[in-house]
Amino acid sequence: MATKTKNSEPDILVEDDRTGLETATLKRAFLDNLFYIQGKRLDNATRNDLYLAVAYTVRDRIMHRWLHSQKALNDHDSRVVGYLSAEFLMGPHLGNNLINLGLYETMEESLNDLNLNLTDLLDQEEEPGLGNGGLGRLAACFLDSLATLNLPAIGYGIRYEFGIFEQKIENGWQSEVTDKWLKFGNPWEIARNEACVEVKFGGQTENWWDENDQYRVEWNPDHVVLAIPYDTPILGYLTDNAAILRLWKAEATNTFDFQTFNRGDYFGAVDEKVKSENITKVLYPNDEQVSGRELRLIQQYFFVSATLQDCLRYHLEIRNNPVSNFHEKMTLQLNDTHPSVAVAELMRLLVDEHQVEWDDAWHITKNTFAYTNHTLLPEALERWPMPMFGKILPRHLEIILEINDRFLEQVKEHFHSDNGRVRRMSIIDESDQKYIRMAHLAIVGSYAVNGVAELHTHLLTQNVLHDFYEMWPKKFSNKTNGVAPRRWVVLSNRALTKLITSHIGDGWTKDLTYLKLLEDHVDKKPFQNAWSKAKMEAKEKLAKWVFDTQGIKLNTKSIFDIQVKRIHEYKRQHLNVLHIITLYNRLRDNPKLNMVPRTFIFGGKAAPGYFMAKLIIKLINSVAQVINNDPVARKKIKVVFIPDYNVKNSQQVYPAADVSEQISTAGKEASGTGNMKFTMNGALTIGTLDGANIEIREEVGEENFFLFGLTADEVEERKRGGYNPWNIYNQNHELKRCLDMLEMGYFSPWDEAKLFQPLIDNLKNHDDYMVLADYQSYIDCQDRISKAFKDQENWTRMSILNTTRSSKFSSDRTIMEYCEDIWKIEPIEVNVPDYDPKSNWH
Ligand SMILES: *Cc1c(COP(=O)(O)O)cnc(C)c1O
Repeated sequence: MATKTKNSEPDILVEDDRTGLETATLKRAFLDNLFYIQGKRLDNATRNDLYLAVAYTVRDRIMHRWLHSQKALNDHDSRVVGYLSAEFLMGPHLGNNLINLGLYETMEESLNDLNLNLTDLLDQEEEPGLGNGGLGRLAACFLDSLATLNLPAIGYGIRYEFGIFEQKIENGWQSEVTDKWLKFGNPWEIARNEACVEVKFGGQTENWWDENDQYRVEWNPDHVVLAIPYDTPILGYLTDNAAILRLWKAEATNTFDFQTFNRGDYFGAVDEKVKSENITKVLYPNDEQVSGRELRLIQQYFFVSATLQDCLRYHLEIRNNPVSNFHEKMTLQLNDTHPSVAVAELMRLLVDEHQVEWDDAWHITKNTFAYTNHTLLPEALERWPMPMFGKILPRHLEIILEINDRFLEQVKEHFHSDNGRVRRMSIIDESDQKYIRMAHLAIVGSYAVNGVAELHTHLLTQNVLHDFYEMWPKKFSNKTNGVAPRRWVVLSNRALTKLITSHIGDGWTKDLTYLKLLEDHVDKKPFQNAWSKAKMEAKEKLAKWVFDTQGIKLNTKSIFDIQVKRIHEYKRQHLNVLHIITLYNRLRDNPKLNMVPRTFIFGGKAAPGYFMAKLIIKLINSVAQVINNDPVARKKIKVVFIPDYNVKNSQQVYPAADVSEQISTAGKEASGTGNMKFTMNGALTIGTLDGANIEIREEVGEENFFLFGLTADEVEERKRGGYNPWNIYNQNHELKRCLDMLEMGYFSPWDEAKLFQPLIDNLKNHDDYMVLADYQSYIDCQDRISKAFKDQENWTRMSILNTTRSSKFSSDRTIMEYCEDIWKIEPIEVNVPDYDPKSNWH
């Protein structure tokens, strides 16, 4: 591998091709990978060949850091955190890895020398869309921070063959196309076939008393599936530590059923294989809503069982530890209830397969898990019908019933046989048919429970989980979410990054609190100008992309007012639309109106079965079509819907925003993380007092935040008082006009007139999300924004202060809090030796 210069000077080393970091070395390594891995020369390589050659060049440089991280972990027998999540929305790897290696510019140079363009090759990477939205992206940001902070961590999840669907917009409607993210290969993962495990399903249990008078159970499944781990290294930022993302793929145990095959039934023989591999075929595309489908439970159990077997094997066989201290060496975080069947599975593995007594097993189990709650929406709370659960996991049902019996005894003792409490707290919901409440199982089986923003945790402990909070107050805490500044600023916003670093150095990228230092410059004119210039650069980049992909020309001097997130009634994209129609009507009434031009940008996917969300997408596109084609209005207002919103294209959206729309009904958004990405990039928020908006406002200062709307308490109060949206509709002239236009088909001249009737009926008759109640407050606030934008100097000042005061929202801070309050894990030291070709330095 190591080479020396040909003649003379034997002591001059040529950098190693797989680890060297110089421009010339990278160039040579890239060409080498192109030739030997892709089998191409520069003159016949496709863009994908070139991308893969760069990816392998970068992967080589990660590999020895990763292997040393794993060695350090084994050598020190450190306590490890496993982050269990049904979703990891990683985004493209190449750009982030270049940033984390500190190689972005060098690689750019090396490629330029070959007349290649890095941006072009970054664009070639197909994003692994293994998540729906915020929850999956949080898991990805957490892995970045865990690695960066040198913490020993493994992310465990599912290697879906089809991730979140690709969204196409046809005639204004969303249509879904399958996402074949693996079609061009995935250079970032390594299959570890030797570490596969078996996962069982169905069948019956058998019990008996053994020779030692021990109660024993054997589970005889009727189906066994292989779980194959695929590992992806997640390198920390400017450190040698790398975390592991281990995703499980399902395969059949025996590819062929030979008996069936010999009978000549080829398709019957393949049936079993298909059935097994279906488990990890596709991600359920519902956000904040449970599907209740049997396959979803099978997916959850599949990855949880594989993960726990993997953790136990690591603990017992690789580290040679006794089973009794499993919870001391390992802690497992449950990202929502999706992996919560882990509580029953660890009990089963300990009691049935490792012969640990129930009480000891329970001690280990409830000191292993910690649970993060992500939602207050009742439709998002997972519960499984008991018959379905028992059919797939008969042994786990028995274990859960045993856990529940023992737990309810405790409840009776603690609350003096209060039957209401017993009914409310039971893991089994018996209100109609019997269901297993997964959140209750997670709480009972965990040593810590957390919410994801102050308000969310408050509402959890005061309402939804109040009984549990009264029983175990110390178990509960808040861990406000965060986002990785490397991906969301350093990689996404190169112009702003350079500007900040030129003023305060680059310490802020590792410790975001350094951003405070920038406040010395907030009143300096040249700095303000440079700041506006960086924002303008990001707006122009987005405008170019919108023009290239959709042919819509944007005015970059207009306010870029952006709402990107999953489409959901509680997020209230339709409230935003009502503001747009209101402005449009004002312009129609007075074409000479001196209004600040606005560009409204939307993006987001709707769950395929969520009718109202899909109708909202059609609404946005219909309003866009009318306004963008109106010769008067289009000079002041543009409306754009970005199709297929994902991590990759979001990276050019957040930096370009002047205004960040965070307008959910107060009490409904647990935290939000999009709000944080916007703030870091210097957008001003228009928001309700919901989720982390409250904390963003506290940090940036109320004078740098546009607040509107009812509070969570006021929402409840209005609902208790018999909220009647009809009255608001009848009394608010501008609002009534908007709704009447929609009802009369003004924005659907190409479609049937009654197109938006279901939406209007919903708003006028129920309005569960208080759109009409917040309408006027929202409009007034938007008017304040337009006025504020006219004073560009002050606007820029506010923008700077949003960024400089955003450090709380780094996921580094969040992860440090998890470590200190919950996990009790510590950094490990990873040392990659200096390159020395004479020794066995790897
Ligand atoms: C950050 C992010 C989200 C979460 O956005 P919210 O505004 O917090 O709902 C969803 N999708 C993608 C692709 C993201 O990057």
